[in-house]
Amino acid sequence: MRFEDYRISDEIKNSLSRLGFRKPTDIQFKAIPPIMKGEDVLAIAQTGTGKTAAFAIPVLDRLQYGKNRKRDDGIKCVVMVPTRELALQITEVFEEIGRGTRVKTFSVFGGVEQGPQIAKLEAGIDVLVATPGRLFDLVSQGYIQLHRVEVLILDEADHMLDLGFIHDIRQLITKLPRKRQTLFFSATINEKIKELAYSLVNKPVRIQI
Ligand code: AMP
Repeated sequence: MRFEDYRISDEIKNSLSRLGFRKPTDIQFKAIPPIMKGEDVLAIAQTGTGKTAAFAIPVLDRLQYGKNRKRDDGIKCVVMVPTRELALQITEVFEEIGRGTRVKTFSVFGGVEQGPQIAKLEAGIDVLVATPGRLFDLVSQGYIQLHRVEVLILDEADHMLDLGFIHDIRQLITKLPRKRQTLFFSATINEKIKELAYSLVNKPVRIQI
């Protein structure tokens, strides 16, 4: 199977070809079809497996304007991540693969001033990549609304728990629509992670790489 054979937009296929991605990696092969069908996914996958594109490709395809939706203000996808570095890295992947689509991706994270982030948010964002603490602060102050979110992604969930983000994550979940797609990615699994995962996902497709 090659990306050419997928039912994804030509713009995304062109980006993948420009990036030199011809064939899906294992995680992409397993995760892209259920994500495109709207199913929840619970995946155990390490960095380096191509997990970012595994969720970026189907999410960008779904959000691409003109295909099966109209431009509509509001954040449609939230990606929660443990660190600023990962936030920037994921944002870059969405921007690279989403080049040629009109999907706008932006990231917010702690450790820097809020002001410039708030100014950018007003421009209209489709995909927001965020660390839970800063996201919680911005939501609490009314700068970010999450009621239009269709897809929630948690990446490196184990690392987020290690960093003590569980309380922020739980608070943020209460602000999200109950009817949504949830994609849960973790490099490792234990009882605590399972408990969080199963409180968020609904009949997930389980993938282990
Ligand atoms: P990740 O696990 O998301 O951090 O991705 C690991 C690396 O694999 C990144 O440098 C990607 O650019 C690269 N990559 C992801 N998917 C593919 C693919 N289908 N073909 C070739 N390289 C890929």
